[in-house]
Amino acid sequence: MFIGHIGIGFAAKAIAPRTSLGSLFLASQFLDILWPILLLLGIESVLIVPDAPTVIPLEFTNYPFSHSLAFVVLWSVLFAVLYFVLKQDKRGSLVMGLVVASHWLLDALVHVHDLQLYPGSDVRVGMGLWSSLAATLLMELGIFLIGLAIYLRTTLAGDHYGSCGLRLFVLFIFLVYAANLFGPTPPHVSAIAWTNLSIWLLVAWGYWIDRHRRLS
Ligand SMILES: [Zn+2]
Repeated sequence: MFIGHIGIGFAAKAIAPRTSLGSLFLASQFLDILWPILLLLGIESVLIVPDAPTVIPLEFTNYPFSHSLAFVVLWSVLFAVLYFVLKQDKRGSLVMGLVVASHWLLDALVHVHDLQLYPGSDVRVGMGLWSSLAATLLMELGIFLIGLAIYLRTTLAGDHYGSCGLRLFVLFIFLVYAANLFGPTPPHVSAIAWTNLSIWLLVAWGYWIDRHRRLS
């Protein structure tokens, strides 16, 4: 899942208003930010399957440290503790931890039986919504748009950049999502990894938007 995670980051602003949108994006997409680093290091692996019966031409063969349930719980707790140490904000740290965990639940809806419970586990879960383009679009766009609507109700543009920056961000996300779903199959795994690393840009963009908007 891609834009659904961004939708959760947007929506979380309503329950953690003092937390920057950038931090919420970092939490909601952390597993997908970690994954390309582990791919490039050769610790995790993925196969490109051009004729896969899913909307994403990939087979997630091994990604226990970024995407197994046990590690997601660990990352969630680490995020919550680290955020509390940095900000002394109980509500914010709880929300940050839950947002990290939400990534796994959303992935479990769309992935096809490839999310392990723990490294080495034979049990792999995933409801496989990615087998249907219509279901994928309905689910991901739905979560994204609801999250965005919640964010727009929670915050107001503080200046010109606060409205234009957000509009540009949404347009950019739609373009990247369309390229993801309908663009050419990635040529090799390192191309996937480097493309995914650009999620850092979205996190930085979130911090920037947040600085130009205020709570409504
Ligand atoms: Zn993921």
